[in-house]
Amino acid sequence: MLKNKVAVITGASRGIGKEIALEMARAGANVAILYNGNTEKAEEARAEAENLGITARIYKCNVASADDCAQVSTQIISDFGTADILVNNAGITRDALMFQMKEDEFDSVIATNLKGAFNMTKNFARHFIRKRTGRIINITSVSGMMGNPGQANYSASKAGLIGLTKTAAKELASRGITCNAIAPGFIETDMTSSMPEGTLDTAKKAIPLGRLGKPADIAALAVFLASDLASYITGEVIKVDGGLYI
Ligand code: NAP
Repeated sequence: MLKNKVAVITGASRGIGKEIALEMARAGANVAILYNGNTEKAEEARAEAENLGITARIYKCNVASADDCAQVSTQIISDFGTADILVNNAGITRDALMFQMKEDEFDSVIATNLKGAFNMTKNFARHFIRKRTGRIINITSVSGMMGNPGQANYSASKAGLIGLTKTAAKELASRGITCNAIAPGFIETDMTSSMPEGTLDTAKKAIPLGRLGKPADIAALAVFLASDLASYITGEVIKVDGGLYI
């Protein structure tokens, strides 16, 4: 479905982003694997992707830094010769109840989850506009749609990402570029494994399909949205949450 396309995935050293990179590689895409600091994990992801017979490269890029994003975007387009798909997946949590949340906990989550997607989209949109084609996929969260106690920073960043997605969809549609968001529920990754056992048990009981999601549940939709099959879908926010937020 993505043969010879070039896919750029932020936060692809682990979890959902890594699985998106691998599934896109299985679909024939060459992949740029971006990460923040965990070079060992990024290298593992690169090796797994290259075993699938495509070209994979890793790039250290703090998406909260506009300078990093500008430099790495230029480098990727130079290394691969082009780019076709951008997945804004990098994200963090710094949970605390709002009245106890520190300024830095609020700012760092907004800077990574929301401004990071803006930084990357700005750079790649210029390239996509010149090509008159491109796919942007933002990984938001059901927390951004339903709110979640202890996640004022995270929910706000993910709700903001939905606004960014819809605006990008409207600004870029006439240039043949689509922009959609995927809103996962609870997915089994490092992010959820750090949650207290009781929170996850309560979450499972609230999920009609009765289980946490897997990164592959998200990756399958990302490949579809990046493919030609989804060329008439833009500005959508698609939940993948086992029915958590119906
Ligand atoms: P994860 O396992 O914690 O992995 C996070 C990834 O983001 C890592 O690759 C990490 O790189 C990268 N990253 C963190 N800060 C970064 C920064 N400043 N610049 C660039 N990369 C950065 O997370 P995950 O669970 O896979 O989540 C992926 C996305 O899905 C996030 O946006 C998250 O909000 C969203 N999501 C997750 C769930 C869930 O239940 N897991 C639910 C809804 C939405 P390093 O390895 O270098 O640290």
